[in-house]
Amino acid sequence: MSSTDTTKDVEDDNIDTVNEDIERVVISEDKKDTDKDCTSCEQNNITEGTEGVALKDTSVCVCASCGKKGDSDDMNTCNKCKMVKYCNAACKKKHRKKHKKACEKRVAELHEEQLFKDVEPDECPICLIPLPPDQSQIQFRSCCGKLICYGCIYAMKMSEGGDDICAFCRTPYASSDQECFKRVKKLVDKGNANAFCHLAGYYKEGSTGLPQDLTKANELNHKAGELGCARGYYLLGMNYYGGHGVEVDIKKAVYYCELAAMNGYIDARYNLGANEYNSGNYDRSLKHFIISAKAGHELSLVPVKNGYEQGLVGKDEYANTLRSYHERQKEMKSEMRDKAAAILDRR
Ligand SMILES: [Zn+2]
Ligand SMILES: [Zn+2]
Ligand SMILES: [Zn+2]
Ligand SMILES: [Zn+2]
Repeated sequence: MSSTDTTKDVEDDNIDTVNEDIERVVISEDKKDTDKDCTSCEQNNITEGTEGVALKDTSVCVCASCGKKGDSDDMNTCNKCKMVKYCNAACKKKHRKKHKKACEKRVAELHEEQLFKDVEPDECPICLIPLPPDQSQIQFRSCCGKLICYGCIYAMKMSEGGDDICAFCRTPYASSDQECFKRVKKLVDKGNANAFCHLAGYYKEGSTGLPQDLTKANELNHKAGELGCARGYYLLGMNYYGGHGVEVDIKKAVYYCELAAMNGYIDARYNLGANEYNSGNYDRSLKHFIISAKAGHELSLVPVKNGYEQGLVGKDEYANTLRSYHERQKEMKSEMRDKAAAILDRR
């Protein structure tokens, strides 16, 4: 899923009341014309208030402002709600005030739908098994920019001549921090999302000869997120919580953690659950915990269980959550991962 930074889109809300009244008169005149002219609404079961919506199973669409029909592909779409179309920029501008309220409502609804949706997990590119939510069980490789599971890394290590070569692309591991940095930089230049996040880590720590620069780290994490690395958004969100390289800003922290969660980052989801809980929003909190528990996150089971005992989570939902949790746990298991885990545990 590609995520856009909607905070950039915030528009000026100030509306002159007198102008609004004038606009209302004009709009109601427009509306009469629209209702009269538009036969396609009737044919396509479009009711009042849904004008401008792309008609189902057809590329024909009605302009939300003037009611003219047009080819949906050639029309100007509302870039916020993506639900209404216009003949051109002039129609869009004319309709802006009238559409504003419905648009904001729809954007909020879409956000909630997206936010509380189960997300398919990313897979290890070698064994094709879902990657574990625990980041210590995943490794980034600076040669190919892939995230590989510890099972596959272990399997390669144990194979003949497999010591210290990448399990994915078979390139020998970088022999020094400097070489590693060069490789990461090369991947960044190619637009590899994971590499942006990794480079951010170098700046955060001030490692591989780089100066410590938290502002730069946050910029790189933001870019990583935009390119599809959910961890980038998560780390940025956490830096807004903690005020690392930025002023503390809980709204932005939640915003970026939500983007991360919507892109499948389980720790972000868990944090959002905890944040909602601390704010007394138990319903939203449990919604988050249920999703992360279903994705195989053990820690999230505790609040869901508590919610069930307090009557906040229904019996069926609790049973469902447990079932999905165990299914995902089973799905994430492999012989190699078990062996690798045994070694990790011994350390
Ligand atoms: Zn129009
Ligand atoms: Zn809109
Ligand atoms: Zn694997
Ligand atoms: Zn590689």
